[in-house]
Amino acid sequence: LTSEPILKVAIAVPLSRLFDYLPPKDGPLPAVGARVRVAFGKRRLTGLVLGLAEESDIERARLKRCEAVLDDAALIDDELLWLLRFTSEYYHHPIGEVVATALPALLRQGQAVYPVREGLAPAVSSGAADLAALGRRAPQQAALLELLLDAGDAGVDAATLDEVRPNWRRAGTELIRKGLAVRFEARADDPEPVVAWEPAPAPVLSEAQQAAVAAVRACEVYGAFLLDGVTGSGKTEVYLRLIADVIAAGRQVLVLVPEIGLTPQLVGRFRARLGIEPALMHSALTDHERLSAWRRARAGETPLIVGTRSAVFTPLAAPGLIVVDEEHDPSFKQQEGLRYSARDLAIARANRAGVPVVLGSATPTLEMQKHCLDDNYTHLVLPERAGGAEAPVLSIVDTSRFTADEGLSEPVRAAIERQLADGGQVLLFLNRRGFAPTLICTACGHVAGCRRCDARLTVHAAASELRCHHCGASRLLDTACEECGSSVRPLGAGTERLEDTLARAFPGQSVMRIDSDSTARKGAMDEALAAATAGTADILVGTQMLSKGHHFPRLTLVAVVNADQGLFGTDFRSDERLAQSIVQVAGRAGREQKRGEVLIQTAFPNHPFWRRLIGDGYAGVSAEALAERAATQWPPYSRLALLRASAHQRADAHAFLVAARRHAERAGGRDVRVLGPVDAPMARKAGRHRARLLLQSGQRQALHALLRELRPLLEGLPAARKVRWSVDVDPLDLY
Ligand code: ADP
Ligand code: ZN
Ligand code: ZN
Repeated sequence: LTSEPILKVAIAVPLSRLFDYLPPKDGPLPAVGARVRVAFGKRRLTGLVLGLAEESDIERARLKRCEAVLDDAALIDDELLWLLRFTSEYYHHPIGEVVATALPALLRQGQAVYPVREGLAPAVSSGAADLAALGRRAPQQAALLELLLDAGDAGVDAATLDEVRPNWRRAGTELIRKGLAVRFEARADDPEPVVAWEPAPAPVLSEAQQAAVAAVRACEVYGAFLLDGVTGSGKTEVYLRLIADVIAAGRQVLVLVPEIGLTPQLVGRFRARLGIEPALMHSALTDHERLSAWRRARAGETPLIVGTRSAVFTPLAAPGLIVVDEEHDPSFKQQEGLRYSARDLAIARANRAGVPVVLGSATPTLEMQKHCLDDNYTHLVLPERAGGAEAPVLSIVDTSRFTADEGLSEPVRAAIERQLADGGQVLLFLNRRGFAPTLICTACGHVAGCRRCDARLTVHAAASELRCHHCGASRLLDTACEECGSSVRPLGAGTERLEDTLARAFPGQSVMRIDSDSTARKGAMDEALAAATAGTADILVGTQMLSKGHHFPRLTLVAVVNADQGLFGTDFRSDERLAQSIVQVAGRAGREQKRGEVLIQTAFPNHPFWRRLIGDGYAGVSAEALAERAATQWPPYSRLALLRASAHQRADAHAFLVAARRHAERAGGRDVRVLGPVDAPMARKAGRHRARLLLQSGQRQALHALLRELRPLLEGLPAARKVRWSVDVDPLDLY
């Protein structure tokens, strides 16, 4: 090399490029994958070195030097660097922001990976004679030296010295000057992990479970497996066997779950059955806890990492297996900033690392099913519930015949009574929190709406408030109509109202509501789940929160209170989504000896959706939906990217998208369809007008080639200054 290399640095700013810096004046070159501190405009930022180059587009003389190298070796290994680059390229999102999303906050802020221990140790040559020599002339120094000699070679931490001898620093400086003590700085390692305990005994696997375990075990390279098992079929048991194998072979397992707080049972089972403490990675950790779990995974000190979405970016010293539990769950997709799917990245990562990935669900997405049909993934089926429990029976309650006043129809009320008399527990599923979704005037029909959104305000009776569930605005509950002053009344039912109705209909029984309002307090969710599991609550009322993965042994009846919410959805995924949510919540019923019963309240009992779901189950609905998507060329038979824009003025959002459309049409040719721009279904949210432009293609390559060209153009558009905009590749929703 004739001249010093140029560092290509990723910095967390919304621009799709790397930034060039010269290395610091002296000291070794930073490694690729190490952090550096750089001046960026008027700010000091932490960047990650992604490459070294000989050339820059900028004249050498004008390049700044980076101010410091923060890691003396690569912080991020090649495998993870690959994943970060892949994420940036696939989602067309600036690499610096991808790095920032992937790194724990403390590392993003430039802190050391390992906390540093500093302190004072006795010099090798010092001893009792020196103590005596210091004697009475320097009592402070003598006392300090005595302390150090007692501690021996390891010395004493500054933190401890601060405690026992607050003024130690002056005496310490003197001791160092006299050659009697030395200062040390050492890496503070993580404490030794808790020793393993005796694993709980495992059940004998069913044939289907055995076949699934054997298929994955036989795979010594990358392979994707869809573990398609009805609720309670023992998917977790399959994971446990595979995880135990991999750990015994000295490698690491990454398990991604939708939400850890909602499913403490799962983590408890891992702990008991594997006999080790899993490292948990989720949003409720403090920054220090997160960093500690991160570095332990990176050092290979922890064999099992269980985490939510962002845990897909956890460094692994020796990956052996990746598991994605409840692969259909929308929470694997981040809906803001970097809009990535942790499930899809997990698959890409497994592929790169050459390890198997197991995707489990009772209601697999059409995307995964299509991969199985195409023979890209192996389809493993667990058709029956484990341990002899039977599948629940689904039936329809026609609310056009039996009115469901305040949420509850007569047949549902009667079934609850019957099940409770039998010693069962019941769950009412209503995916709408609050008291009522609407406050309406009895005279003029005016409906209370949000001032900043195109949305109605929800009545929260206990708090005496009207709240907007879209922007979070709230105000005191109206006592009279804002328009004409007549009296107002709540219309329809949310979980809060349903709870009231049930308490009145079943006096003597304990009713418990579980939704994000009732569990806002820290620890409330755990308490509620414990009560639900122990069976001390007879009647459970809840939202989506209650439908995920829980095992309530005494639960025998599930009632879906308002199934019509999703029946006429305009989104191409509505059928798939509705079937998933009903089948998942139905799966909570009858998981032990007694068979479960599921009642679905709908005003449209003859809708073909119900015939398919009740006749052929989820497989029936999804086969039909898949055929429809093939015919209409929607995903998974085509690829989508959604360009969203919002602005204070509607015209600004549209002007940006119109400009984007022009560029897209020029760049995309005939292989990409450009649809829009159109307003979002809820056009105004939190005071901003929202619009979108849809890009669709039968060829993934064509779509990505277009986006690669489009993204930098959009960053430079003058119209971009007035809007907030984003690119969403493989969007879940088209709003
Ligand atoms: P899923 O993850 O598919 O919902 P789980 O693994 O939680 O299913 O299994 C449901 C219940 O059946 C659990 O209580 C589990 O302990 C039990 N179970 C799983 N496999 C077996 C088996 N082979 N024999 C007996 N019980 C089993
Ligand atoms: Zn009115
Ligand atoms: Zn609002």
